[in-house]
Amino acid sequence: MLTVNAYGATSATDPLVPLTIERRDVGPRDVMIAIRYSGICHSDIHTVREEWGKITFPQVVGHEIVGEVIETGAEVTKHAVGDRVGVGCMVNSCRECDECLAGDEHMCANGNVGTYNSTDVDGTTTQGGYATHVVVDQDFVLAVPEAIPYDRAAPLLCAGITTYSPLARWGAGPGRKVAVVGLGGLGHMAVKIAVAMGAEVTTISRTDAKKADALSFGAARHVATNEDGALRALTRTFDLIINTISAPYDVNAYLRTLRPHGALVNVGLPPEPLALRVGSLIGGGKSFAGSNIGSIRETQAMLEFCAEHGIAPETELITADQINEAYDRTVAGDVRYRFVIDAATLA
Ligand code: NAP
Ligand code: ZN
Ligand code: ZN
Repeated sequence: MLTVNAYGATSATDPLVPLTIERRDVGPRDVMIAIRYSGICHSDIHTVREEWGKITFPQVVGHEIVGEVIETGAEVTKHAVGDRVGVGCMVNSCRECDECLAGDEHMCANGNVGTYNSTDVDGTTTQGGYATHVVVDQDFVLAVPEAIPYDRAAPLLCAGITTYSPLARWGAGPGRKVAVVGLGGLGHMAVKIAVAMGAEVTTISRTDAKKADALSFGAARHVATNEDGALRALTRTFDLIINTISAPYDVNAYLRTLRPHGALVNVGLPPEPLALRVGSLIGGGKSFAGSNIGSIRETQAMLEFCAEHGIAPETELITADQINEAYDRTVAGDVRYRFVIDAATLA
């Protein structure tokens, strides 16, 4: 076992604090990663504040991890010491169910092992990326292309794959009108990726504050919902909406902006239920859907896609002692567009 420095929560209400956690010995199929950068996802905040339910404390969250391989087990073939690698939202799965065998381990019938607050195969609770090191099975470790700047790569491991996957599945591309709702960590990646796929992108945000940024990411136009009638004016406009809002929202008002046969895909995961009027779907034969991260294979494809298209997240690098402030700023929508922890400040 290796004792490592980390930053974690001891309760749902107290600020995160420096603490130490144990990492398992490197097994035959494991790699040990010296973490360099760790992104802050809104899911980390929902989790430690117990907005999604009870969790195990102390809890170190973080599932947007990049770093260097510093040790490999005897049977490891996929990664070598010195490689630049990443870890996203899961670190193992059953490998036996239909989904795992089909390469959809993020939909594992027996529940994949999450990077944090999950029961690992050895019965311990997993602890995430706000730490100096992590030990992960080689199959759940991604190769991070050199073309992606090191200090900006981490958010791709959750925000990148979570938006790439539904954009690919629902066919964002030339001739398709895509709306991205909510311009935070996920939203800004959805814009960049959809634009690179060739879609015409509209950003929908509460205000005009992020308009110039949205246009610089390649959006064709920006709509602020605090203007009267803004959503009404978009009636029957979009083929696909990627909704990243982390709070309850008026789903019927957004469904109206879809063209017939269009789809509203939720990746945002508000703790409270939404009020869906079925009539909002029926007239235009519309779909209301959800999407959860992506498989390991698709995450690797997303990293290659971003490298090829010169896409990287917009990040603000912080020290470990700025994590609590970063949480408050994220909840307040005051993030441009992802906080990334410099793991050197945990040492
Ligand atoms: P984030 O950076 O905080 O962005 C969320 C955005 O939603 C904000 O920037 C804001 O956009 C908008 N928003 C927030 N509160 C709102 C409100 N009350 N009304 C309207 N809009 C509001 O969060 P994130 O890290 O991108 O995550 C977004 C959501 O996705 C979270 O719920 C997270 O847990 C979830 N998530 C899901 C998956 C998955 O696999 N499905 C993966 C990762 C994260 P504007 O300021 O532009 O209005
Ligand atoms: Zn996440
Ligand atoms: Zn499985």
